[in-house]
Amino acid sequence: MSSSAAILTVGDELILGDRIDTNGPWISRTLLVLGIETTERCSVGDTVDEIAKAIQRLAEQNDLVFVTGGLGPTEDDRTRQALAQAMGEDLMLDSDALESINSWFALRGATKPSANDVQAFRPKSASWAENLVGTAPGLWAVLENCKVFCLPGPPSELKPMFAAIQETILAGICCGIPRKTVELHAWGMPESIAGEKIADLMRLADPTVAILMGQKGITARVTSADQDSVKQMVAAIKERWSPWLYGCDDESLAYSISTLAEGSLATAESCTAGLLSDAIVQTDGASNWFSGGWVTYANEMKQSQLGVSSELLEKAGAVSYDVAKAMSEGAVSCSDARCGLSTTGVAGPDGGTTEKPVGTVFIGCTVETDTEVREFRFTGNRNEIRRRAASTALQMLRLRLLGIHVDTMCWQHGEAKL
Ligand code: ATP
Repeated sequence: MSSSAAILTVGDELILGDRIDTNGPWISRTLLVLGIETTERCSVGDTVDEIAKAIQRLAEQNDLVFVTGGLGPTEDDRTRQALAQAMGEDLMLDSDALESINSWFALRGATKPSANDVQAFRPKSASWAENLVGTAPGLWAVLENCKVFCLPGPPSELKPMFAAIQETILAGICCGIPRKTVELHAWGMPESIAGEKIADLMRLADPTVAILMGQKGITARVTSADQDSVKQMVAAIKERWSPWLYGCDDESLAYSISTLAEGSLATAESCTAGLLSDAIVQTDGASNWFSGGWVTYANEMKQSQLGVSSELLEKAGAVSYDVAKAMSEGAVSCSDARCGLSTTGVAGPDGGTTEKPVGTVFIGCTVETDTEVREFRFTGNRNEIRRRAASTALQMLRLRLLGIHVDTMCWQHGEAKL
């Protein structure tokens, strides 16, 4: 039988709902790939007794327990004391851990605050794990035949530490069959259509296929212990979700464009106000194909920066086909980029009219001398409308660079104009 694991995330902010636990899901997914099932995930606040009780209970029922958070230098970081209490041991200073913290500060030319010394303490029979990206060393100990790992809260520190101690985690642990998961992301088709297209595949017991909605659009999650069947399923979904499917796992819409863009792209943003360029520059190597962009919120800026004529703004209004076209073309001509993208719309909550309600966004997409403009009626709150507009703009450009014409896209209102 394969070993079981439990995950305990520590922090008042998690209990109060100020922060969403992302460490627990990440550890569960990572363990699944290694063939270890998570039986329970729970959170407790920054109280020594609560943390200690949870560690004891989870250690009695599992082979592995992962605790994240509460290893910092401040008064409310109590995981060290809690582990010691659960083990019935005292804390002692570990000179190697102290040396590691000292070198972390020395390497950065910084003076170590004395408060950080507390991070070098560990329960007597516990071991410590080096933190290469932060000051909090990890801790691990054996309790009730269960290995308990205490890891830092910040995800950027947790992940490298988990990778560095993976051998220690797995030593003597009975792994089941590792499961492979692939996520496929699509943008631009409604969820109901996405579901219909793969309904028969979703009924299969293995691989399992689930649909998730999120900021990446519509995601199909394929999971199986059999790598070949995952591959086949991925190929089938890619075909059925074409041309909307833009990437797998960590790939973004902007990344899908980076592999296509010949020449460069410039943006002219009104309602998205930088979200589009932000999505683009999150991709490594964006400087190779992204020239830059303008945030032109006021009409005067659309005129002075992008050459949109005052007559056009007067006649058509800032939120219109013609202005989206002029903005996109202005971005191209003012930058010498090959492609341009523009957004102009009403993100709300105010400013909507019967003709142009909140959610109305015109998106312009220029490739060389041709500009396509589509009108959308995005749903959601102000920021959802802005995010949906930015992703839709990227999908419009991706499709045009691939030479694919689609009559309509999700949230589109009326026909596309080229
Ligand atoms: P530090 O040395 O930074 O204090 P720590 O191990 O004490 O590390 P915490 O103080 O508990 O960790 O958390 C530090 C930050 O890490 C939190 O503000 C939060 O941003 C992030 N964090 C903590 N726990 C989680 C979690 N379960 N999911 C996502 N982020 C988390």
